[in-house]
Amino acid sequence: MTVFARDSAYRAKQRAAWTPERRAAQSARRKAAAVGVSITHYGYRVLTGQYVHPLAKNGSLAEHRMVLYDKIGPGIHHCHWCDKLIEWNSGDYDTDLCADHLDNDKLNNDPENLVPSFFECNWNRTNPCHPRLRDGDAEEIRAQYASGGMTQKRLADRYGITQGAVSRIINNQRRIRT
Ligand SMILES: [Zn+2]
Repeated sequence: MTVFARDSAYRAKQRAAWTPERRAAQSARRKAAAVGVSITHYGYRVLTGQYVHPLAKNGSLAEHRMVLYDKIGPGIHHCHWCDKLIEWNSGDYDTDLCADHLDNDKLNNDPENLVPSFFECNWNRTNPCHPRLRDGDAEEIRAQYASGGMTQKRLADRYGITQGAVSRIINNQRRIRT
């Protein structure tokens, strides 16, 4: 627990900065955001102004996740590649469900092209040129980050993965520890 103390202090400071007024203003801005479509930095199609679908987050809904969810339904499923049990928005890196594109085309969101996948299976399959995440890497990444001195960017470079992937590994772990 103590290794996360610094993060707790940081989060408490962040929480304090968010007054109810500020939160309400941001919420109103988001709700007013036009319904539309955009492409993320990583090449995924995202629907905006979405507040009804269970996978919508702050008004944004990744189209591939929506299509797969509507195809297979909520709850727990098996990874298409290794059969591991995974769950939509489980909040835990080790059980989180990714929507995986069989043909690796991030914009081909045909239901037949999408399967549920464990994060590491999805990552290793679609990033063959990078070093692969292996058993224990996630624990190592969390430990190095928790011990301080390593930024997410440096960890991303060391493991040959994106900073977003590092953030996901670290933050999901943090959620289940606290
Ligand atoms: Zn798998």
